[in-house]
Amino acid sequence: MGSDDTKARIEAILPDLLAVRRDIHAHPELGFEETRTAALVAEKLRSWGIETTEGVGRTGVVGTVRGTRPGQGAIGLRCDMDCLALIETTGLPYASTTAGRMHACGHDGHTTMLLGAARLLAERRDFAGTVHLIFQPAEEGRGGAVAMLEDGLFDRFPCDAVYGMHNMPGVPVGQFAIRKGPLMAASGRFTVTFRGTGGHGGNSAHLATDVMVSQAMYVQALQTIVSRNVPALESAVISLGHIAAGSPEALNVMPSELVLGGTMRAFNPEMQALLERRMTELAHLCAAAAGTTAEVMTRWGTIPMINAERETDVSAAAAKDMVGAVVDEAVAPVTGGEDFSFMVQRKPGAMIFLGNGVGADSHALHTPKYDFNDAALPFGVAWWLGVVRQELGA
Ligand SMILES: [Zn+2]
Ligand SMILES: [Zn+2]
Repeated sequence: MGSDDTKARIEAILPDLLAVRRDIHAHPELGFEETRTAALVAEKLRSWGIETTEGVGRTGVVGTVRGTRPGQGAIGLRCDMDCLALIETTGLPYASTTAGRMHACGHDGHTTMLLGAARLLAERRDFAGTVHLIFQPAEEGRGGAVAMLEDGLFDRFPCDAVYGMHNMPGVPVGQFAIRKGPLMAASGRFTVTFRGTGGHGGNSAHLATDVMVSQAMYVQALQTIVSRNVPALESAVISLGHIAAGSPEALNVMPSELVLGGTMRAFNPEMQALLERRMTELAHLCAAAAGTTAEVMTRWGTIPMINAERETDVSAAAAKDMVGAVVDEAVAPVTGGEDFSFMVQRKPGAMIFLGNGVGADSHALHTPKYDFNDAALPFGVAWWLGVVRQELGA
């Protein structure tokens, strides 16, 4: 790892990092509820002599390390701290101690790696300029990045560029993956409510307007948006996750209301607008065909995660130079969403994927057997140090 003693310095703190990672893993907290995690982060940062600001975007924490060499440059290194509402089934000795809460996206590892980098940066401060360590709350759909931005993140902690990292199962440990341009999708949710008269399904069906018929046509019609409205070389996803109407105890009753909902993904604003427009048009057409009405709600939780050119090059160089890693610089975009996209909308930035391992033990993100791979910890720490060296000439 690098030509200097970086590897040895990371190895020296690795036992501490492992303990912190497993402590956070055992005590997962949902978005904006990360009080224990935030307190742990703040306590660690202060113990290393780092200026620390708590309560940025509710439960967010920012640490600021100033280099000892003169320089006006400033960069932001961002991680996320929240968990998911999942029941963990890993059976690990450090598994979640809170029922229905789980670090199933590796944010425990992300927080630990940025802490490791903070400690080593504060130890020597051998760079020119300022590093802001951004510990973001509530990445998982609860708006943590926007909360920090609305709390004046970049006014209070000015950054010329921002960097993020997410672990990626399926990429070998020690390897990285990145691409210029769209890396992750805009992620949104929608619900459609069909309303009709309902009625007796046996003796007056012909007098009723039937939300079931509207729904059946709509589920079919939705499939034509990606296959017939989205251009062949673009991509998008629409999936239904929920349908509710009627009662299994009243099978002869035609319900008067039906709600269905799902998720949608796209990689640019034009496709986002197209999905919303066609989903709405088709809902009203399918309603009209069966004499019902439709009410459509769409909401985008994230915007596309677009990697800036220069910061992508910096990220790849950091991985090669500091870590000596294999870097896939043209990884295929993924349709997962990521709210770091809102920070990158304000400041030039990039997100890199850190290999979390391959094989039978490598479970997908957001699944109950997933675990952040501790073997990836030193590579992540080294990458953060590499970014500082690339940007601020450490
Ligand atoms: Zn996630
Ligand atoms: Zn995540």
